[in-house]
Amino acid sequence: MRLRFLGTGDSAQVPVYNCECSACVRATHDSSWRRRPCSAVIECGDQRWLIDSGRMDLTELFPPGSLNGILQTHYHADHAQGLLHLRWGVNCKIPVYGPEDPQGFADLFKHSGILDFSQHWKAFEQRKLGDMLVTAIPLQHSRPCLGYVFSHQGKHIAYLTDTVGLPPDSLAYLQTLTLEYCIVDCSHPPQDTAPRNHNDLNMALEIGKQLRVKHLVLTHISHKVDVWLMENPETLSDSILLAKDNGMIAV
Ligand SMILES: [Zn+2]
Ligand SMILES: [Zn+2]
Ligand SMILES: [Zn+2]
Repeated sequence: MRLRFLGTGDSAQVPVYNCECSACVRATHDSSWRRRPCSAVIECGDQRWLIDSGRMDLTELFPPGSLNGILQTHYHADHAQGLLHLRWGVNCKIPVYGPEDPQGFADLFKHSGILDFSQHWKAFEQRKLGDMLVTAIPLQHSRPCLGYVFSHQGKHIAYLTDTVGLPPDSLAYLQTLTLEYCIVDCSHPPQDTAPRNHNDLNMALEIGKQLRVKHLVLTHISHKVDVWLMENPETLSDSILLAKDNGMIAV
């Protein structure tokens, strides 16, 4: 399995419009530090699935026939806005799997075009996509939200965003697996009070410890997290990695 990050930013992205902090200045001068809407592509054999669709250039990134479908974690704008354009394609159907969320995003469900939203995923539901087994993991967020575990030949990659901590059932389930990579929401630098909707760095690191993952990968990164990590680079190690746009992991 291979997972490539298409975006690793929070909803503001990096650089933040009109911000002059050190992370935003760095991203302005060096595009490898740019952070687009949080999303990724997972590939295994003949399967290629987009995880979240916040990128606004999906029609250019994925020529017709190049995607088996889309896995949505949830329907906040920064994870779903690219669908507003993609849906008006013609002569094909793209399945979009995700949690049941009657409100969804804008008028996507009303005018779905080529997108097929008919199959919701339930908590801990498993489906085979080619040779890859995918399990839906409920997360803790302000909208119905699912993370996903991708499994192939005894190796597992978890993609867990957006979330603040983990619900007890999800934590218990994930503790039964040995995760090669666990990709988690890390939207805030360490906070004094517990955040409400997204992990801060402390909570992200705690998830890594609770799950005893081989590699914890931080994503959904805000410019404030980038600044904090520039000032505290020793936080990162061989087992704690910082996702970057276009970065790739493989198992
Ligand atoms: Zn900034
Ligand atoms: Zn969200
Ligand atoms: Zn988000």
